[in-house]
Amino acid sequence: MKKASVSRIRKDMTHLVEKVGLRLAGSAEDRAAMEYIADQFALAADECSIEEFPVICRDVKSEVLEIRIGGKWQKFPASLFGSAPGTHGKTLSGKIVYFAPQTDFQRADLSYLKDKVVVFWGTHIETPDHYRRLLEAKPAFVLMTDTRYPANCALADGLFPAYVRKYGALPVMNVAYLDVIRWVDEKATDARLKIVGGLRQSTSGNVVATLYGSDPGAGILYMGGHHDTQAGSVGADDNAMGVCTAMETLRLLAEEPRKRTIKFISFGAEEQLSVGSAEYVRKHRREIAAQGKFMVNVDSASSKVGWNTMLWQCDARARKLLTEIAHKRDYYFTESTELCPYGDHFPFCAAGLPAFWFGRENCATGRYFHHRPDDDLTKVSFDLIAQVADISAEFLLKAANAPALPFAGKLPEEFEAATAKCWRDLFGGWKGFAPMPEELLEK
Ligand SMILES: [Zn+2]
Repeated sequence: MKKASVSRIRKDMTHLVEKVGLRLAGSAEDRAAMEYIADQFALAADECSIEEFPVICRDVKSEVLEIRIGGKWQKFPASLFGSAPGTHGKTLSGKIVYFAPQTDFQRADLSYLKDKVVVFWGTHIETPDHYRRLLEAKPAFVLMTDTRYPANCALADGLFPAYVRKYGALPVMNVAYLDVIRWVDEKATDARLKIVGGLRQSTSGNVVATLYGSDPGAGILYMGGHHDTQAGSVGADDNAMGVCTAMETLRLLAEEPRKRTIKFISFGAEEQLSVGSAEYVRKHRREIAAQGKFMVNVDSASSKVGWNTMLWQCDARARKLLTEIAHKRDYYFTESTELCPYGDHFPFCAAGLPAFWFGRENCATGRYFHHRPDDDLTKVSFDLIAQVADISAEFLLKAANAPALPFAGKLPEEFEAATAKCWRDLFGGWKGFAPMPEELLEK
């Protein structure tokens, strides 16, 4: 088999990260990325198409946060959360209250948050009950502080769509951790926020390329990564690298004879909680149930510094096969079998397929440039991307050509119950979500 080409990978990465840049789901750049990926896929694949789906686009024209310190208003960087509404061009203001969700939800009464600006020590509201209670307290707006990556800039993130659909939402911004420390030290009193633009209905898509196998009944293998990014981030590691790995793996495998079909998918809207991959498995549920055998996910696995990680949602035979291929190529990783719904493998697991996820971390909480503007080409290693493509290609080719599939082609039983529960609670299950409440959208 051919070896992955570092120069081709560099060219693809440069196009997606520097030429297209920011790729928010439903935006013009998202569309430009899909078209480039479709063109590249089409050069080597037997078939390629863009499968569109509706998406809520975060379309912010301006976002201005001001904090009053010593009687004077000062501007600070802030980033509106995905799935959170803007202020419809109005200015909202209130007194600052610091809130530690780790302990403050123990209070029976949260009415003291009414009309306040809640500075929240964390980025995720972990349970639907906490989300509902915070909303019912009716704060003016919420400023989230990412406690995983204490940063001097505002990171980006999103609210859980399932919670927004069920309970509604209010403006939620991410602010810089180190700014919040300053507000505390300098006794900031008030905050005010004006956002022009916000959420609007749009379209995104999955780019799907197929390499047909010689035996149509022998099963389908899937490999994918997402092309969209978080607000403000050009997403080199998260996740142009995953898409470029899939494009290169397809090129390596295109000329190889194979018995089973392999599909390569560049998913849209992963950053809104795997919207594209969930759409894909809902649309192709029957085909996946009848023919699907495995899913390989690549997301954020190319940081120059750090260590490789592997998330297994598959049996011991698949683990052994991939481990042998990787070790032979001097690629080692930490391992986990925990359930993780924050990746494009997850909807495939919910559809009954086994999977693994190539990842890479560089700090104890993940990656220090997570969802930040500086997740750019200077942070990634093209050699590592080539290595992941070579390993994926060998794994997929072995699986595609073995007379009998060399591992169980279904999700191991021990993952089933928790996966099904999470699929229902966070993704709305096979029916999907109710539409976004109209009042949260821009007119
Ligand atoms: Zn990602």
